[in-house]
Amino acid sequence: MRQRKLRNLDTRYEAFSDILIDDPAAMRGRWSERSGGAPLYIEIGCGKGKFISELAAREPEHFFVAIEGNKSVMMRAMEKIRDGGLKNVIFIPEHAGDLSEWFAEGEADGIYLNFSDPLPKNYWYKRRLTYRDRLKSYFRVMKPEGTVTFKTDNTDLFEWSVLEVIASDLKILDITRDLHADPERNADNIETEYEAKYSGFGEKIKRIIVGRR
Ligand code: SAH
Repeated sequence: MRQRKLRNLDTRYEAFSDILIDDPAAMRGRWSERSGGAPLYIEIGCGKGKFISELAAREPEHFFVAIEGNKSVMMRAMEKIRDGGLKNVIFIPEHAGDLSEWFAEGEADGIYLNFSDPLPKNYWYKRRLTYRDRLKSYFRVMKPEGTVTFKTDNTDLFEWSVLEVIASDLKILDITRDLHADPERNADNIETEYEAKYSGFGEKIKRIIVGRR
């Protein structure tokens, strides 16, 4: 069953070859060939793509690279981009590790992390997307004014991430522990799938925007 499911998925992926990057390491230093030199933003863990599809529609002058380790979830995101006729999003169907393997220094303008897996067991902390070494790798691939924007409903992950930011000697540019209750900050917020779900359960949405010192 599993074999067949995977084969079907591969076949369905072929239809999206124009927006898929098979070998992201080969693109390192060459993303402008795809972006046409437009400012480049990365989302790690795009899920079903509600956020990236709405952002790409709102910012046609920007180019987006959506990374998602779950191939069947990412299929839904690719469908949204194709159905929306958007030309400014491409996808990497892999789990991101050290981003500097895929992007050269200063190649990106911003990074979005939305509702990243909390991985609550302590021994998994190095795999959390806001772990200090990962934060540092994000800033290696971004321009000096680049920012990381992280949203979650998970209080433990959020507070832990704030400490990782501080430990990395990065700068907190903005922080809120109840985004939806703040009309000014929430005005241009794009809700993700998880955000709609968990705020619907009454969870407060936290957001931090991080830059260099
Ligand atoms: N951003 C979406 C989904 C959140 S769930 C939303 O807010 O609705 C977290 C997603 O991140 C999952 O789909 C998971 O497969 C993906 N993910 C976790 N670690 C990842 C990594 N290192 N690289 C790429 N995707 C990752």
